[in-house]
Amino acid sequence: MNPLEDIIETFSPSRLQTLATCHYRFFRRYILGEPGRVTSSMAVGSAFDETANICYADAKEQGSPFTNGDKAAEVFAWQWDQEKEEVEEWLSKPGEILDQGVKLARHWTWQVASQYLPVYVQADWTLKFPGVDWKVRGILDLVAQPVHSRRLILADTKCTGRRWRASKVWYSLQPPAYSLGSEAVLEKPIEEFQFHIGVRKKMPEVQIEVVPVGQKERAAYVKKVAYARSLVADLYKTGVWLPTARDSGHFMCSRKYCPYWQECEKEWGGKVVE
Ligand code: SF4
Repeated sequence: MNPLEDIIETFSPSRLQTLATCHYRFFRRYILGEPGRVTSSMAVGSAFDETANICYADAKEQGSPFTNGDKAAEVFAWQWDQEKEEVEEWLSKPGEILDQGVKLARHWTWQVASQYLPVYVQADWTLKFPGVDWKVRGILDLVAQPVHSRRLILADTKCTGRRWRASKVWYSLQPPAYSLGSEAVLEKPIEEFQFHIGVRKKMPEVQIEVVPVGQKERAAYVKKVAYARSLVADLYKTGVWLPTARDSGHFMCSRKYCPYWQECEKEWGGKVVE
């Protein structure tokens, strides 16, 4: 399968978000398949994400919420040890990241993991639509039941160096994509999505953001996928993938947040901001 066919067949929220941010970035990441330089922030994000998956999978198997903060800290330390080998650009010192990550894993266990009973962890989903020959696919990181409630929620765990701004929460494409995914898995959509954002700092914090999702948001997501498919097919035909984020001044367009800034300067000239 060539990259275009793969992309035309399935669009994840991160692909959609990358295309909306910058066409050239999308081209390097998904058409050329270049993962880009791994920064320490990306590596710690992966280590924390994997820690959450392991802890939630353990809790699901036990049939009770995850409450062992020491184990979460141990799992994080082990995951970080693997991920740090891949780092090409250090934005913080490795020892500092380990220290903050271990504290965060304990704090996250107490504040978040112990409050939810996992029902699905890392569940694959595919949704077909009548009258079209394509589908939407994805992974549900977590479907869970809060301990003092009978309702189900969707959630994803993040790890960052600072709190997320409201615009980042509200413009994210994950909530409607996950809600569609829950419809595929459970036949009835879950309409509450939560971001559990672990903030690494001296005194760790977990920022919890709740995003309601309804039929309008799910339908809008499907329309965005349909539009993105035809846009990618057109761009692929012309072979012109412009560095659109530079014109829009998107915050991800910087040497810190874009792994392709060197290639971008080489091909398009100019200077990418620090
Ligand atoms: S540096 Fe900016 S314009 Fe260039 S690829 Fe990255 S996000 Fe796009």
